[in-house]
Amino acid sequence: MKNEENKTNKYVPKINYDETPNCEHDIESDIVVGNSPCPCCEFITIPNNGDALAYICPVCFWEIDLFIQSNVEASDQNHGLTLTEARKNYQSFGAVLPMLKKSCRQPKEYEYPTK
Ligand SMILES: [Zn+2]
Repeated sequence: MKNEENKTNKYVPKINYDETPNCEHDIESDIVVGNSPCPCCEFITIPNNGDALAYICPVCFWEIDLFIQSNVEASDQNHGLTLTEARKNYQSFGAVLPMLKKSCRQPKEYEYPTK
C-alpha cells in the first residue's frame, strides 16, 4: 500500500532527517526494550520497571522524572512541563514539545500497551 499522503500530515511539521545526524545514532543504535509504560504516552518503552531516572522515552521524549509527585507538578527534566501538559502535547502533535518531535520515533509493535 502506498502511503505518500500520510507523510504530509498537516499537523506534523515537515522533518528533514538529513539535518539531524545526531539523533539517528542516539536512538537507532541504542534501543532499550522497555517493560513499563511511559507515564506520558503509555507505550511500553521504559526499562527497569519504570525505575529509570533520566531515561528519555523514545516515542514521546518525556524524560522520566522520579522526583515529581503528581501529574501537575512541573518537571525540571522536561522543560518545566507537567505530565498533564506533556500528555496533551503528545496527543496533539506526537511529542512533549514541538521542537522534540524530530527526535521521536514511532512506537514498535511490541510497545503497544496491552489492556
Ligand atoms: Zn513516552
